[in-house]
Amino acid sequence: MTTAYQSIDVPFEFRHTCWFCGEPYYESYPFMASPNYEQQRSPILIPSCQECFTLCKSIKVSGLDLLRDKVKEKLHNRYEKHLQIGVNWTKEELKDSELEGRAFEGFRDSAWMMFEIAKGRVNYPGWPVSIDGVPVMGINNAFQLEFNGIIYTGLVQAVEQLAKAYNIPQPYLEEVVELVGRDKLAYAIRFCKTTYGYSAAERETSIASLKALLAEQAAAEQELTAQNQPDQFIEIALSEINGLMLYRTMVSPHAIQWALQRGITTLSELAQQEDAFFEHFMRDSELTAFTYFNGLQIYFEKREVDPEWAEQSDPNRALFARIEAR
Ligand SMILES: [Zn+2]
Repeated sequence: MTTAYQSIDVPFEFRHTCWFCGEPYYESYPFMASPNYEQQRSPILIPSCQECFTLCKSIKVSGLDLLRDKVKEKLHNRYEKHLQIGVNWTKEELKDSELEGRAFEGFRDSAWMMFEIAKGRVNYPGWPVSIDGVPVMGINNAFQLEFNGIIYTGLVQAVEQLAKAYNIPQPYLEEVVELVGRDKLAYAIRFCKTTYGYSAAERETSIASLKALLAEQAAAEQELTAQNQPDQFIEIALSEINGLMLYRTMVSPHAIQWALQRGITTLSELAQQEDAFFEHFMRDSELTAFTYFNGLQIYFEKREVDPEWAEQSDPNRALFARIEAR
């Protein structure tokens, strides 16, 4: 048994604060990893409030971040009703509520405050942990998840709490979240709330329609990506392109490059892509875009009305031949 304790560093502004939840300090909890994978030698003292101190006593975990997560989960469970106030009401609704009766008045006066206190505690991030100025590594926040302004220790906990808060059978919400992805919790909840009925058969029907909907969306997205990245995009270096003067108008190599890379070689193809052209060159300036477009129009027109010139004299004829041969 060791008696040497090490205390985590407490910045001045946090010297009376619980590291877990931000409430006033009561006592430091001596944390010892169990199982002790990292061969921790002596207990680490973590400033705690009375409640978190007591919660810590029943928790056995292998790391400080897991201890913190377990404390948060216990706070979530204990203050579930308070946290749900924010699900069921907004501050204004509560204030303006017409509901009467002494019981409700009492609730109304304190409810929002209770909600904010509970939220503040479960969301409290603590301060970065160091001992004698040396940062303690491996405090992991990667699994944390925020939903509706409240932070959960991970997806499993979030789903568990939100299923209760929104009155959705947990396995059903789990299944929907798995389908739509962890970053679409709001969508998952909305879906569950708007589907008709929670019987096994009804849920199965809803899941099947969700799968069909997601497949449809994925297909539409794929199509859109394909449209935005035309497969005929051709790599052509600016140095391969000759700028030219036609009828006292400069035809910019940049404009020619833009067109040829997209397989555009005729006036009508250019007309179809006019919006894309302007969107691209407006980034430089409006004048640039207009000048380039005008030059390109004159160039393509010349090639169309004078095919002999296009085949024999156009300084870019080899490039056009290459594109048109594709
Ligand atoms: Zn606390």
